[in-house]
Amino acid sequence: MKIQEADAKSLLLAQGLPVPAWEVARTAEEARLAAERFFAAGAQQVVIKAQVLVGGRGKAGGVKLAGFAEQAELIAGGILGMDIKGITVRKVLVGPAADIVKEFYLSAVLDRAAGTILLMGSAEGGVEIEQVAASNPGAIVRIHADPLLGPLPFQARELAFAMGLGGQLKAAVAIATGIVATMLAYDADLVEINPLAIVRETDANGSMVERLVCLDAKITLDDSGLPRHPELELLRDPDDEDPADREAREAGLTFIKLDGTIGCMVNGAGLAMTTMDLVKRAGGEPANFLDIGGGARADRVAAAMRIILADPKVNAILVNIFGGITRGDEVARGLIEARAVQERDVPMIVRIVGTNAAEAAVLLEEAHFTTATSLDEAAAKAVAASSQSGAAA
Ligand code: GDP
Ligand code: MN
Repeated sequence: MKIQEADAKSLLLAQGLPVPAWEVARTAEEARLAAERFFAAGAQQVVIKAQVLVGGRGKAGGVKLAGFAEQAELIAGGILGMDIKGITVRKVLVGPAADIVKEFYLSAVLDRAAGTILLMGSAEGGVEIEQVAASNPGAIVRIHADPLLGPLPFQARELAFAMGLGGQLKAAVAIATGIVATMLAYDADLVEINPLAIVRETDANGSMVERLVCLDAKITLDDSGLPRHPELELLRDPDDEDPADREAREAGLTFIKLDGTIGCMVNGAGLAMTTMDLVKRAGGEPANFLDIGGGARADRVAAAMRIILADPKVNAILVNIFGGITRGDEVARGLIEARAVQERDVPMIVRIVGTNAAEAAVLLEEAHFTTATSLDEAAAKAVAASSQSGAAA
């Protein structure tokens, strides 16, 4: 799950990282009021930033500076409603503009292959790291940190020096350690600060000081870790999710969309994978992986059917249920209900074995469903039905 910059900054702040002040505004007027507060507190300029879950907002015109409150209102009005890479901006972040001396890049990602946390830093900040990796790979410093301990002090110092942050050593070490602490605290896959910036500020005595701050923040949370942090569910952005994925999540289904034409509805992850394999062996292409889970009731079956049929490429459906806790007759009832209300009729091949399979068979027979007894037979029938509808279309 990706979260907005403002939310990511809250998580960083909670771990003690240096983040400039900000407010979130949903209207131009709110942006003006926020700007007025920052100007009253001494800001020379404010920054207004689109809150959308894509990178490159700066280039897209979603990050702008304003010198007075009315200008902030005007700029916010322009950014709100703007389309950035297909996403409509509904919120902006408003904060005192930083006086940037130099921009750096710093991130921590889960390196699954190495079983560690990978810290990446670069003196070439502000640009996307993929670009740096392509044009100047030597400019990226990599450090593998222990997944429990995080970067050891000497590692964090090495990273800071290699990035050219020797002059901000203490702050750089604290931030490198802090982003890993953030990762561990919230089960994040990625914490990226781009830019991490040296900024010029006026201190309490009126003299200029340089400080290292997190100017931008991107955090991706591990979906599997979310149940351990139910409060983070509130940070979910509706634009982050495909409608089918959202419906699947809300219905308690495990759903992964694929490219084929045969929709698969199965209970159990292992059986779902086997079903996909057999569809492939029979010469077809599965349209999805879908595990309706154990003990699935009729409403969940109906939701699964809606999700499968929402994919226009699906021209046949294979239902493969092994009744254990899941009762075959419940699934059959769900299928009958779902078919009664569905808008698109595609051939459906149903195989239900196990608990209450006999009751299911009677119901399916009465409702004129095509059934199969073995999985091979079901897969063959589904592939035949799919290629027929494909040829007809
Ligand atoms: P992104 O383009 O979506 O990654 O958004 P960023 O927050 O990284 O902003 C893009 C660029 O805008 C940064 O690299 C900075 O150069 C610039 N920028 C962002 N915030 C400020 C600010 O407070 N002051 C100034 N002067 N520039 C900023
Ligand atoms: Mn950025």
